Amino acid sequence: MRRKFVAGNWKMNGSLESANALVKALVASVGSSPAADVVICPPFIHLHSVAGLVKDSGISLGAQNLSDQEAGAYTGEVSGAMLKDVGCEYVIIGHSERRSLYGEDDALVCKKFLHARVHGLTPILCVGESLEERESGAMEAVIASQIDAVLAAAGVEALCDSVIAYEPVWAIGTGMTATPEQAQEVHAFIRSRIAAVDAAAAAKVRILYGGSANADNAATLFAQPDIDGGLIGGAALKAEDFVTICEAAA
Ligand code: PEP
Repeated sequence: MRRKFVAGNWKMNGSLESANALVKALVASVGSSPAADVVICPPFIHLHSVAGLVKDSGISLGAQNLSDQEAGAYTGEVSGAMLKDVGCEYVIIGHSERRSLYGEDDALVCKKFLHARVHGLTPILCVGESLEERESGAMEAVIASQIDAVLAAAGVEALCDSVIAYEPVWAIGTGMTATPEQAQEVHAFIRSRIAAVDAAAAAKVRILYGGSANADNAATLFAQPDIDGGLIGGAALKAEDFVTICEAAA
C-alpha cells in the first residue's frame, strides 16, 4: 500500500509576509501527523523562514529547483548541499516550466537528479507531454523517453526511491485538468514502463498527478489506482484549498 503524497509548488509567488501567513495556516490545519505525506515548495528566498515554521510539524520542506553543480562560480545557482542545509528534504526536478522556459533537457534533468540524491534530497521528478505531442500520438514516446533517461542515468532503485509527478503540460495552470481516466492511463503506463525493469520497485514508487488539480477534483483523481497524490500549483497558494486536497489524499 503506497502512502499518498501531496506537494505544493508555490512557484514564484508570495512576499515573506504572505509566505509565512500561508505556512502558519497550513501548519495549524494539517496537524503533526497527517494521513498523507505533505510537502510545500516555496521560492528559494523564503525557504529559511518557512523551514523554521514547519519544524516539528507534519509538513516537510521542498525546493522547486537546484543546480547540477556542487559549488563555485555559478552565479544565481543553489546547490543540493545548500538546500539540505536549510532544511529541505525534497526538490522538484524537471518541471515543465524549467524544461520549456529555461531549456532544461533530459541530460540536465538527470544531472540534477543525481546531484539531489548525493545530498540526501528526494527528487520529485516531473514528466509530461504537450498538447501537440498528445494530439500527434507521441505522448507515450515522450513520457517513456523522459523516464528512460533517468532510469539509465540513476537506475531503477533510485528512480523508485524518488517521487514521480505526471504533469501534462496542457493542464498546468490552464484550468484544463486531465480527466481521472486520462491521468490513470498515463500513470499506469509509467508504472508498467518501470515494471518492465523491476516490478517490485514499480509497485512501490509514488506517482503524483499535477495539472489544475484543485479542492473539487482531487478526491476523484486520487481514487484512481495508480494515482498516489498530487503536485499542486495554483491551489497550493490558498490554505483552505490545499488543506482540502491533503484531506482528499488521507
Ligand atoms: C504545477 O505547476 O506543478 C502545477 C501542477 O500547477 P497547477 O496546479 O497550477 O496547474
